[in-house]
Formats: sequence, C-alpha cells, structure tokens
Amino acid sequence: MFDIQKVRADFPILSQKVNGKPLVYFDNGATSQKPQIVIDAIVDYYSKYNANIHRGVHTLSQLATDAYEEARLKIQKHFNAKQNYEIILTSGTTESINLVANGFASILQKNDEIIVSALEHHSNIVPWQMLCEQTGAILKVIPMDIHGELIMSEYDKLLSDKTKLVFCNHISNALGTLNPIGYIIKKAHEVGAAVLIDGAQACPHLKPDVQALDVDFYVTSAHKMCGPTGVGMLYGKEEWLRKLPPYKGGGEMIATVTFEKTTYADLPHKFEAGTPNICGGIAFGAAVDYMNAIGFDGIAKQEKELLEYGTKRLQEIDNLTIYGPEDLNRKASVISFNVDGIHPYDIGTIIDKLGIAVRTGHHCAQPIMDFFKIPGTIRASFAFYNTKEEIDIFVEAVKKAITMLS
Ligand SMILES: *Cc1c(COP(=O)(O)O)cnc(C)c1O
Repeated sequence: MFDIQKVRADFPILSQKVNGKPLVYFDNGATSQKPQIVIDAIVDYYSKYNANIHRGVHTLSQLATDAYEEARLKIQKHFNAKQNYEIILTSGTTESINLVANGFASILQKNDEIIVSALEHHSNIVPWQMLCEQTGAILKVIPMDIHGELIMSEYDKLLSDKTKLVFCNHISNALGTLNPIGYIIKKAHEVGAAVLIDGAQACPHLKPDVQALDVDFYVTSAHKMCGPTGVGMLYGKEEWLRKLPPYKGGGEMIATVTFEKTTYADLPHKFEAGTPNICGGIAFGAAVDYMNAIGFDGIAKQEKELLEYGTKRLQEIDNLTIYGPEDLNRKASVISFNVDGIHPYDIGTIIDKLGIAVRTGHHCAQPIMDFFKIPGTIRASFAFYNTKEEIDIFVEAVKKAITMLS
C-alpha cells in the first residue's frame, strides 16, 4: 500500500537542503522530481550498453534497440494503445503538438476551422496560429467561466461541419482544471473533426486510456511524470498516423533513398528521423513502471488530501484569492492564487529563501491571466510525494512573506 515515507525515500533530491532549509518542492507542474530507479536507468544505459539503435548488428546496439523498443511497449501498455507503432517517441509535448500541426498543413483548406480552449498553454496556441496563417484556416476559442471551467454550451455552438480539429488540454497547467475531454471528443467526432488532447499535466496524476477515450491524438512529456527531460510521446490512431506526412526528414525515417525519390519507413519510424533520445526513451519506460508500481489509486488519494488540506489552509489567509474550479473533484492538485496588493513574484522570492519552490508568473498561459486581469499567480503544484507537513511550512512562509511585504 501507499507508504509516504517509503515513497519519499525513492527521491534522493527530497532530502536536500535549499538555502539552509529542507527543500519543499511544490513546482511539480513545471517538472517532477526523479526516483532513484529512473536515475539508475540513465546511469545503466551510459555505463553498460550505450550504442546507436536500429542500425548495428553488434551486441550493444541490439541491447540498446531492445531496451528502447521495450520502453515503447511499456508506454503502449500504460496508455492502452492498440498498436506499439501508434506510440511515436518525441522530444516532448511541444514537439508532439508541432508534429501534428505540421501534418495538418497538408489537410486543412481555407476557411476550415480549428477549435482550441481558452485554457491552453502557449505551446498549444502558437502552432495553431502558425497553421492558420499557412492554410487560411480559422481559429476559434472555447471560452471559460470565472472558475476557470470551459463553457460546454459555447463549445457546442462553435462546432460545425467546418470544424476539422479540436485541441484541448486534459488538465490546465495554470489552474489545475480537469477538462471534460470525454464530452469534447464525442461532440467533435459527431461533426467529423479530429481531437488532440494535451496530457502533459494529466499524466502525473492519472492514467489515460486512449482507446476508451476514442481520442485521435494524445501527447505528453516524460519529465512531468518522473521521467527525464527531452523525451515525450505522441499517441496517434493508426489511420491518422498513416494519413499525416512525416515531420522531419533524415536517417531512420526512410525505406529507400535515391536522388529521384525517397520512400518513407513504416510507422513509427516515419516520424522518428535521426538518432532519438535513446537513454531518455528507456528512462521514460522506467518512469512509467515506477508510477504503476506506486499505483494511480494511491497517487490520487494522496494528492486529493493535499489539495483539500492546502486549499483549506490557504483560505485562512485574508485577501487571498484562489483561481480555478471551486469543486475540488474537477481539479488536479494545483493551487494557483494571489494576495491582494502583492506581486506574486515578491512572495515567490521570499519563500524561496525559506527553501520552498513554487512557480510565479503567467505559467505560459498569458490569455488566462488576461482573463482574470492579473499579471500572474503563485502556483503550488503538489505531487504524490509531498506531505501535509510541507503544506504547513509553506502556509507559514506565505504568511511571513505577506507580513514582510505589507
Ligand atoms: C509543460 C506543458 C507543455 C509543454 O511541455 P514540454 O515538455 O515543455 O514540451 C504543454 N502543455 C501543458 C499543459 C504543459 O503543462
């Protein structure tokens, strides 16, 4: 069963001191910490079987290829993809989104419509704006209400036979909103549109089933779910991946090359040009194994407790506003807040001196900040390895910062 002290012992960084104080790491929404087993996978690869994959006949190359392909299978199983070749290993969420956007450049026509949500991360807005400029397609936005929840009746109105593509995050990185992606996918399919879900903030908290969701594309980064930076995945339904053209040209993605014509390799290699992040892919597999061994039921229970406790404790503070859904069941363990008259950056700086890591700023989601007419927020994002004791330290530090700044 879930034993918090045992879990914490898996993460060497958590016993660090920062600025002379025990580290309280509440910036998990930016990147998670890594358990020893993932660090070991990285060290093992470079110390025991580093070699390029899919090329050499020699032993090390075969070991590396096997480990890389085994990681793909672990990821396939984790997300319940039907085929292993529906899992494309990329450098992360941003690249995965760009890969799909690039592919749709050859599919979209002038005046086709793309729908995105008002809760998007910049990496989920810019590629679609670029795609619209390139193709003459039109970008539409699902608005949100004052609790940071998308308004589904407005979404219904935006959908038409012009809609070709819908993009939405599973969980908002700025506010923690858990979006109704089941409904979004079903409705988009009714008008024949494809759906891409950005799961970068969801995968640290829950285990998506891409077949049950019937989603066309699902993307995530390893580094927010206990894996290393620089690696992530694109899940795509086979029919879509066959339809989309390759993203990058180069080695590994070709079947035959002459100066007259190149034919592309089969999936997944068609989208994996060049030497990939071999070590990262293998460690991504180790991270998926680790999270499943901890168990997503235990993770959800621990994080719900932290969210409820953290919300209650912060509400003790006068003039403090928490943004995002009031119903905590529609929210991940992220608390985004402000204190009247105090800039979020100033609080962040003071509590850093006390060993506490939070995010301050617009969280790559400027349109959300504009909606609330604020420069940014302080975001405390909890992982399953955080504790109520850390929340107490954090709340006392915020109170102290407010006293110093008022
Ligand atoms: C972090 C994040 C991204 C970008 O992920 P990268 O790993 O930087 O590519 C995209 N969308 C959401 C919702 C995120 O939280």
